[in-house]
Amino acid sequence: MNRRHLVKSLLAMPAAGLPRLTIKDVKVIKTTGGARYRWVFLKIITSEPGLYGIGSANNAFQTDAVIAALESHLKPWLMGKDPDQIEDLWQSSHLKTYWRNGPVNNNVLSAMDMALWDIKGTRAGMPVYDLLGGKVRGAVPCYDHVGGADAAAASEAVLKSLASGYRHIRVQFGAYGGGGFLPAGQGSRPEGGPMGQVFDEEVYVERVSKMFEQVRAKIGFEAKLCHDVHSHLTGMNAAEFCRRLQPLQMFFVEDVLAPEQLAWYKHIRQVCTTPQAVGELFTHPFEYLPLIHDRLIDFVRCRVSGIGGITPAKKLATMCEIYGAKTAFQEGGENDPVNLAAAYHVDISSPGFGIQEENHWPAVVHEMLPGTPEIRKGYLYGNGKPGLGIDIDEAMAAKFPLTADPSGGPYRLDRAVDGSVVKP
Ligand code: MG
Repeated sequence: MNRRHLVKSLLAMPAAGLPRLTIKDVKVIKTTGGARYRWVFLKIITSEPGLYGIGSANNAFQTDAVIAALESHLKPWLMGKDPDQIEDLWQSSHLKTYWRNGPVNNNVLSAMDMALWDIKGTRAGMPVYDLLGGKVRGAVPCYDHVGGADAAAASEAVLKSLASGYRHIRVQFGAYGGGGFLPAGQGSRPEGGPMGQVFDEEVYVERVSKMFEQVRAKIGFEAKLCHDVHSHLTGMNAAEFCRRLQPLQMFFVEDVLAPEQLAWYKHIRQVCTTPQAVGELFTHPFEYLPLIHDRLIDFVRCRVSGIGGITPAKKLATMCEIYGAKTAFQEGGENDPVNLAAAYHVDISSPGFGIQEENHWPAVVHEMLPGTPEIRKGYLYGNGKPGLGIDIDEAMAAKFPLTADPSGGPYRLDRAVDGSVVKP
């Protein structure tokens, strides 16, 4: 065969071993999960019979906006496209809204992106982590959530968590801001001001740092302790809080500042080495990029479904690896198993991983979402099945339909003693 004939015969061969797929249908699945959740999932169905993928678009606070964006804007655009082109679909979907990012757009991107990775893995007969480079650790370490009204109760809860196998444990003293609240009626209040409990920054700095001293005195230094300030402090109070916690060797302190005040992290670095976890509320890479580049934070706390899915999460993990920061992907009370499964695949395949927030659900959720990742002795395990390894029983989800939230689903806000809003 001469050269001209060889080129001709190569061009006649199919470009890849598998036939080209198209997206045949896109379904938005809305459910309470049989409990208190406001979950939205996306199912992308391909031209290959039985081949589909699922993704999470969960947003408890703007649920209906996400549903409308999926049904009215993503679905008609996605129909007929090639699901193998994950990166191109991500980029073009990201830019087709012209205005980039934002919580609703990111949820839409995430749902699509996870479902596409699920399809590709299922088609390849490989778990998504194998497509991302393979496992780099045996399982994914998670941090537990414990709390107590005071140091004694919190210490007891930490010891119980340690005994159950967790090494990383987040400690809160009641609800977010707990330890910093003045009870109803206490403190000097303005006429017409709030009558219930109110938040006070200086009280928080003083009481919570003292409680952590007491917890360490009781439990020692075996447990790797975390704490979430949930943006309740400002400026030098945030720096002072981290400085006071320094001798207590925290694993991290989370969101000691609101995302509007990131410039203060350089001042925190100047006064202490308490590790900083930041980014639960980030919706744009420009928020975490300078912090990682300038070594101002230690852990990036994004939720995978909050930043656009597996594609940007893997890039973020790689950036963390390069700059020496770590991921600590967010989970949380209202979050869902599909998002945790997506985080698992990035976590287990990424050297830039630091820790994963745990989440757990009632039995009804495990039945509705078979393949939900499981935590045993502080480690998160997937099931090694192709794709994300998780599925959704649509008939069961339909038995628990999402209904309109009469309150609109707002995030609960705390107030300061003068009645002003405290950033959450
Ligand atoms: Mg948080």
